[in-house]
Order: sequence, then structure tokens, then C-alpha cells
Amino acid sequence: MDKTVNVVICKNCGNKFEGNYCNICGQKIINNRFTFGVFFKDAIENIFNLESGFFFTIQQLLLNPDKTIKEYLSGKTKVYFNPIKFLLVVAGISALFVIISKTYDNSIQLTTNLTNNLIEQSEELPPFAIKLMAFLKTYLNVIMIIIVPFYAFSFKLLFFRTKLYYTEHLIINCYAFGIGHLLSIIVSFIFLFIPNSTAIDMVSGFIILLAVYIYFYQRITERKLLGTILFSIFSMVIGFLLFVVIFNLLIFVTVFIVKKYTHLL
Ligand SMILES: [Zn+2]
Repeated sequence: MDKTVNVVICKNCGNKFEGNYCNICGQKIINNRFTFGVFFKDAIENIFNLESGFFFTIQQLLLNPDKTIKEYLSGKTKVYFNPIKFLLVVAGISALFVIISKTYDNSIQLTTNLTNNLIEQSEELPPFAIKLMAFLKTYLNVIMIIIVPFYAFSFKLLFFRTKLYYTEHLIINCYAFGIGHLLSIIVSFIFLFIPNSTAIDMVSGFIILLAVYIYFYQRITERKLLGTILFSIFSMVIGFLLFVVIFNLLIFVTVFIVKKYTHLL
């Protein structure tokens, strides 16, 4: 049975083509209506697909980060999972891990000092604000993906000799942070079964992320390893500080507005 001989009209752009994908816009033929089965199959295919699949992209990034990223930056984007989507899926996995580990034990409670001082001053705040703080604290690992644009900025600053645009650094950062975060989730999962390992878990999470960044940037820039290590550390420190300042500023402003608003009531 050969179903590829028929000429089809693309439902997305109106182009006439043969095959399973439109040769102009890449839209896949979906002949069936969206029953749950069709919708689910399409979603699963999107993730496991050899072409442009989530796991295929992970494999390519781990084995050949330079080839993968250079291909993506040069315009061969169709075969890879979109970097922003990639980061969002990783954030989803991260959220799932928080939920799983929260039911397993309370080790996640020791996050960082990032929100601790804000929790302290939250006593005078209305209940919903306290809930918001607690939520931010619990899902800090997930929220941390917001740091990626800041990292991209500092990597652009320090790796200026690569002559890459900010957006190109952003693409590299989405992939590098995504891979690093995924690996650290796997390690965190192992640490769940080891008591009192929260501090080691956090340190190893940072080291894994740093190692992935060094690996990626070394392969992409082809510069000396020592220089890449130093520049990556500096980039991550600067990016982190920028993130902390802006994150705290945003929360400070939110707290200020909430306080002012509730006093009026
Ligand atoms: Zn089309």
C-alpha cells in the first residue's frame, strides 16, 4: 500500500505536494480529525521522532554539540527540537521532579538563600503573597530557567571574539542549560535516596551545568580549554549576579505594591 503517490494540498500554506510533509512549510499531513488518539500520537511522535525529536536532539547535543549547534545556527533547524521548546520541556520535567521528590522527602526545602530573606519579611503579608513566596521557593529549580537570557548576555559579553549575535548565544544557552539541567535532575534523583545529601546535590548541580557549558563552548569556539573554563566561570557568575539583582528587584517591587495595595483596603 503506497499512500505517498497522491498529490495533497497543504492545509497550512496551500502548496500542492506529494508525500507526508509539505515541501514548502513542512506541515505534516493529518487526515484524521483530532481524536484523543490522533492528538496523543502526534504529541508522542513530536517527542520521540528521530527527526526533530526531543531525545534525538539530546543525543546529538551530547555527542556532537559543535556540529549540532553549528548546523542549527546555519539554518538546518528542521532536524532539531526547537531550543526554546527544548528548555520548556526540561522545565516541565524539572517541575515533575519537584512534585515527585516533594512526596518522597523534604530535601527540596533547602533551596538557596535567594528567596529566604523574602520569606522572612513575608509575615506581614497577606496569605496569597505568602503562598506565592512558598511557591517560588519550591519551584526555584524550575524558575531558574529564567536565568538563561542573563547567561546568554554574559556569554555574549565574555565570548565576544566568537562574533556570535546575542540570539545565537541564546540558542546555545537554551541547549546547554537544558542539557545541564536534565543531567542534574538525573543526579538529583539519585541523591534522593542518599540522606543529608542536599548540599552535595546542589554543588554537583552547579558543577554539571558548568561542565556542560565548558564542553559546548569549547567545541563551538575551538579555543584553548583553560581560557574556555575561566571565561565560562566568569560568564556564569556575572549572569547569576545579574539574575539575582533583577529577580530580587522584581520581588521587592511586587512586595511593595502588594503592601501598599492591602493598606488601602
Ligand atoms: Zn505547506
